[in-house]
Amino acid sequence: MSSREPSAPHIQGHSPRECSNPTSPVTPKALAQLPVHTIQGIAFDVDGTISDAQGKIPHTSLIALERLRDHGIPALAATGRPLAWAQAYAHQWPILGAVGENGAAWCIGRGSPQGHVVQVEFHLPQSELHRWYSQREEIRTQVAEKLPQVPQAGDALGRACDLAFDIGESYQATPEDRTALQAIATGHGVHFACSSIHAHFSPTRSPSVPLWDKATGISRALESALGVSNEHIRNHWVFVGDSGNDAEAFAWFTHSVGVANVLNKPPNPLPQYVTPSAYHTGFTELVDQICNARTER
Ligand SMILES: [Mg+2]
Repeated sequence: MSSREPSAPHIQGHSPRECSNPTSPVTPKALAQLPVHTIQGIAFDVDGTISDAQGKIPHTSLIALERLRDHGIPALAATGRPLAWAQAYAHQWPILGAVGENGAAWCIGRGSPQGHVVQVEFHLPQSELHRWYSQREEIRTQVAEKLPQVPQAGDALGRACDLAFDIGESYQATPEDRTALQAIATGHGVHFACSSIHAHFSPTRSPSVPLWDKATGISRALESALGVSNEHIRNHWVFVGDSGNDAEAFAWFTHSVGVANVLNKPPNPLPQYVTPSAYHTGFTELVDQICNARTER
């Protein structure tokens, strides 16, 4: 994907080109330069961003999410993890909701007379995904035959739309494995993106443009949850992530941040800003900066 023509939320009335961000940097700026006074919400990746290097989420990340809530700053998780995991995040964390499977679906927590309920919405109704489901099975079979050493993602049972293989969680994929996985995706004409732990396959809406991605998922989730416009989200929410499956969101948001480990395997494009520290410590630095600015108002 070109850094000049990033994917963008597929919202009626907004073409991808209108939503593209022409200012993706060659080198991210320091977090201290982020104009935090304009930030009204935060969308965040999970693995590699609020976790530690071993994939565990420390209590300091949950404290940071509570701090955002207590400052009246809404937060939305956006993960490549399964929809079922996103449902759990939306139920149990102090956040507005969670986008799962890189934007294929999202879960929004809403108050109701019965208490807190989580509603699930899909990018496309599952009835319209039959062609993808059959293609997904062909890819799954082909990977099993050609790359038997590469396991499916350990969380595959919770996935509704996405197909993911383990490249860094319980199995360390070689560069040859990654190249072969990408070649299979290219052969099927489907989108391919890697997080720090998984290689994801998903359908495209036109050559090289994924049908869904984190930017589209976040935008549609927030439109549903808050009724805010695409442009408001783009300009007044910040996105923070760490790897290749965050690239579309890095490209689309006016203010995108990478935790420092984003530079270990730089995605294309890079985020606009980078935190001083890696993993959850970098996330906490971003949250502190946003909350401190809110306190100063
Ligand atoms: Mg990540």
